[in-house]
Amino acid sequence: MTCVLDPGIRVSEIFGPTIQGEGMLIGLPTVFVRTGGCDYRCSWCDSLHAVDNRFRHEWKTMSTDAIWQEVNLLSGGRPVMVSLSGGNPAIQPLGALIERGHREGYRFALETQGSVARDWFAELDVLVLSPKPPSSEMTTDWTAFEACVEAARDKPQIVLKLVVFDETDYGYAKDAAARYPQLPVYLQPGNHTPPRPYGEEVDMDGIMKRMEWLIETVTCDRWFDARVLPQLHVLLWGNKRGV
Ligand code: SF4
Repeated sequence: MTCVLDPGIRVSEIFGPTIQGEGMLIGLPTVFVRTGGCDYRCSWCDSLHAVDNRFRHEWKTMSTDAIWQEVNLLSGGRPVMVSLSGGNPAIQPLGALIERGHREGYRFALETQGSVARDWFAELDVLVLSPKPPSSEMTTDWTAFEACVEAARDKPQIVLKLVVFDETDYGYAKDAAARYPQLPVYLQPGNHTPPRPYGEEVDMDGIMKRMEWLIETVTCDRWFDARVLPQLHVLLWGNKRGV
């Protein structure tokens, strides 16, 4: 008998069901598995508790089985969309979890910045690629990004999600969309507020002004393929964790 060791998955939090607050699946009831650790450090990251080593003591290394049991418990055993987020979930071994869930009728969406490609991207139902614009102070490696698109092998639905704070980010979003004209584009006004418990109150005024500016910019620009959406969960609950 061959034993395959479960390498363990680093998890920051598992919660839900709640609605997906952004992008293509906005409004859809979802259970979230947020992994711990990220190869990026965006200046405005709103998930620092899943990125920063200060929070490492909160992360747990869990087996696929243990994660699955928790997801199943939260969903009451009824198949639901599972969102794999982070941090960067692509740096965790999630293939077996996706396979396990699919056997029971669950669906999986994963969001990543597109810096690490995995074979198991092809097993996803939805792959959200969210390259980070200049305001993040990160630099996109488009070769690595292309490897992510190729790894998906046209199996899951792939979408682009871009955060926009200003004109420079907007130009970056247009460039990213031009590189991948076949992919639907979701634009989202940036949110500067770090997550609680270290964040302040959400700058709702700033978010709404950026949203209005973004809608105006997209429409004046006649960019009619782009969809502009706010982060619904931030409008409802600020940057509170676990909702
Ligand atoms: Fe945060 Fe995402 Fe940037 Fe990682 S890629 S630092 S999770 S915003």
